[in-house]
Amino acid sequence: MTDKITKSARSSLMSKIKSKDTKLEKSVRKILSGKGIKYRKNSSKYFGKPDIIIASKKIVIFVDSCFWHGCKKHYRIPESNRDYWVNKINNNKKRDKLVSLYYKKAGWKIIRIWEHALKNSNRINDLFNF
Ligand SMILES: [Zn+2]
Repeated sequence: MTDKITKSARSSLMSKIKSKDTKLEKSVRKILSGKGIKYRKNSSKYFGKPDIIIASKKIVIFVDSCFWHGCKKHYRIPESNRDYWVNKINNNKKRDKLVSLYYKKAGWKIIRIWEHALKNSNRINDLFNF
């Protein structure tokens, strides 16, 4: 399949994703190191490449970007190449379900955080309350 997204649109999306990662990283590092918990980030050894893996507690954490994962509140289909985007985001959602199922079956706890929820750091704190 041809990727129709323009270079500038992609780099704008990518920079948004990067800033999200940094923000998450900081919040999570602070909380987890405060609790003395060791974790890994973005390990491709794990199915679906979770954003955070806490192997000792069998927990994987995914941060779902409002755009790429089709958040009901914030996702808007781009004006151009609508078919491409509808298909793309639907596939992402299907994959999310598959990944969630995989970890549930394997007896792991899976936590999904919406990108928009990261704005509220108290909520992140609650998530790590184990
Ligand atoms: Zn959202």
